[in-house]
Amino acid sequence: MNNRCSGCRSANLRKIALTRNMLINLDPSLAPDIFPINFTYCIDCGYVVGAYVQTGPTHDGYFTYKTPADNAYPPHYHKSGWHLEFVTKGSFNYYYRPVGSQEKPTLVTISAGQLYFSEANIEHGFIFKDKVGLVSIINKGRPPNDFTVVTGDFYGF
Ligand SMILES: [Zn+2]
Repeated sequence: MNNRCSGCRSANLRKIALTRNMLINLDPSLAPDIFPINFTYCIDCGYVVGAYVQTGPTHDGYFTYKTPADNAYPPHYHKSGWHLEFVTKGSFNYYYRPVGSQEKPTLVTISAGQLYFSEANIEHGFIFKDKVGLVSIINKGRPPNDFTVVTGDFYGF
């Protein structure tokens, strides 16, 4: 492996193993049995070195940069799917509430180095104000109707 980021040439790389104990919003005992998840990323630009995230038989992993343009992605929920989000650079606002709720969603800001678990049957949307580096881990085998867009007002602003 190179010892410099192939994006920005920084040598400020971090080798990480995501573990269930890093989850900021879930009892570790309730997490799927997929840990550890290994990769190396650049602390300066957030790029995952080699764009490679270790995956397994039950889940896929990938790296993306998100920008304010991605705010157009509609609030939604998954009927059975879940995803993990690990932030490598920056931070973003994640809004969520139970399916069918008409309450204003709860806001959590997820920042670099944090790991968040997005459960099934929770309506969620996100606001990216800057460029954000994101590692997403998604369960395999979702049924075709897993993804449902939230209709009506969601964010309340
Ligand atoms: Zn870099």
